[in-house]
Amino acid sequence: MRRLFLAFPGGKHKVLTMSYDDGRPEDVRLISIFKENGIKGTFHLNSGLYDDPQYQRNPKEQIPELYKGMEISCHTYTHPTIARCPSTEVVKQTLEDRIQLEKYAGYPVRGMSYPNGSFSKEVEIAMEACGIEYSRTVRSTHSFAMPENYMEWDPTCHHNDPKLFDLGREFLALHKTQYLYMMYVWGHSYEFTNNDNWDRIEEFCRMMGGQEDIWYATNIEIVDYMKAWKQMKFSADGTFAFNPTAYTLWIDVDREMVPVPAGQTLHF
Ligand SMILES: [Zn+2]
Repeated sequence: MRRLFLAFPGGKHKVLTMSYDDGRPEDVRLISIFKENGIKGTFHLNSGLYDDPQYQRNPKEQIPELYKGMEISCHTYTHPTIARCPSTEVVKQTLEDRIQLEKYAGYPVRGMSYPNGSFSKEVEIAMEACGIEYSRTVRSTHSFAMPENYMEWDPTCHHNDPKLFDLGREFLALHKTQYLYMMYVWGHSYEFTNNDNWDRIEEFCRMMGGQEDIWYATNIEIVDYMKAWKQMKFSADGTFAFNPTAYTLWIDVDREMVPVPAGQTLHF
């Protein structure tokens, strides 16, 4: 009997993703480091703080160019500790952030990271009703497992975690293709200036970038791919599949990596 497994784009089984909050001017430098190394990241922005000089945010006119190739994602409109807010405020904070960010992003913005790491079941429900499809927490797992609940998406670690480089090396060495692995690093770009440790992220990105067996993805690319893959229709005997989505989806068929183009039926 054939063995069929989900594979990431390109037939890969490891994904690296980065996630940075608040949209401060240091994002410019961080994005150039990501781009030099072929790494992708998600940037969680508070669109309601852009015009307030006390918050040092990038001017919103620069958003489309600055975050090109990265993901623009929500972080609520004005960064309240959201679990303390009534549901009506959660809805307003989420929807208004989406509406404003989408003016600059040009695509439906569906990601979130919880401001101050605060959330609750009620918050998740309200945000999902506003079209949010994932939200990142600040709980480090030190693991490479795929998330079970994307509305409580726990990162592997913060970039200042003492284990960052050990975890990176461990991730690079993973080779068992029967598992999917994700490494997820988060932080704020201004921390590199405050802590005077830009060399830390430069070294990490140099170490992790340019690897043949790693898929470099934004947060939402991972969510979209996993959701699309679940829509694939497999024949009962496992000899063919129909991909009804707009994505090329990859299957590991007896260790051979097979791409199924969008909208097509493929016999293996
Ligand atoms: Zn924040």
